[in-house]
Amino acid sequence: MNYRHAFHAGNHADVLKHIVLLALIDAFKRKETPFFVLDTHAGRGRYLLASEESRKTLEIEDGVMRLMAQPQLPPVVERYLKAVQADNPVGSMICYPGSPLLAAQALRPQDRMAACELQEEEAAALKALFAHDGRVGVHPGDGYALLRSLLPPKANGDKIGRGLVLIDPPYEAQDAEYQRILAALAETLSRWPQATCAVWFPIKQRRSILHFFRKAAALPIKSALLAELLVRPDDSPLRLNGSGMLLLNAPWQFDRVLAPAMPVLKQHLGEKGASTRLEWLKAGD
Ligand code: SAM
Repeated sequence: MNYRHAFHAGNHADVLKHIVLLALIDAFKRKETPFFVLDTHAGRGRYLLASEESRKTLEIEDGVMRLMAQPQLPPVVERYLKAVQADNPVGSMICYPGSPLLAAQALRPQDRMAACELQEEEAAALKALFAHDGRVGVHPGDGYALLRSLLPPKANGDKIGRGLVLIDPPYEAQDAEYQRILAALAETLSRWPQATCAVWFPIKQRRSILHFFRKAAALPIKSALLAELLVRPDDSPLRLNGSGMLLLNAPWQFDRVLAPAMPVLKQHLGEKGASTRLEWLKAGD
């Protein structure tokens, strides 16, 4: 069990990331043809919330739990909460499902997923989680390198045209991570030009993020949509004040799907000075 991840699981950053992830998958499900999901930094798939560090307040209490206390929420948020609850017994929260589990629960029989994870222990947990799900391939190793062998996606020898690449690194390499992400995005788009790419980022150093946006928007893409949630003003360098998702080639009018969620996330997860942003950096046709 990785306690650091369990401690953070279900926090405001996970809420935004996983709402967007499920909404993207739901958009793909409007057509019958199969789609493919690649999760380059998948984690272990499920996080136990009762940690040995339970004296500390788990971040989920200021994240997804606050939403669960609300009587009425927009459909895109309700749908996410249902997915989180589906992995728990009625009326209690024992674990938090990570991105590969949320995605796999949303797949149909014809859809496929590949999940990459670098840490051996995390990858082993992920393999065990999907041992009986033939739609999901678990690939231990570096997700940035593995995407070369996984894209363009195929199932039974046939190409899968539609789908999503989720890039959710831990940013241990700080600014250098953005260079790796940009290289991975360029590689993805050269192999699979129509891919939707979703990149999670922490809001810490605004300057590096702006540089990243400029470079990403100049890639060969149809559109770039940005969704950000700052739970407090962007001036406390020691904490994660907010995060965002950058979506390249997002489904048509996808901003309209996310729009109702943003004020709700700000209201329930934010402190004084919280803000959100939902904006096309590059508008589609
Ligand atoms: N995407 C997951 C979710 O939403 O539930 C959480 C992922 S966590 C933020 C990042 C994960 O990436 C960690 O489990 C870490 O071990 C893994 N990791 C770090 N570098 C990696 C790399 N180069 N390739 C694949 N996984 C990596």
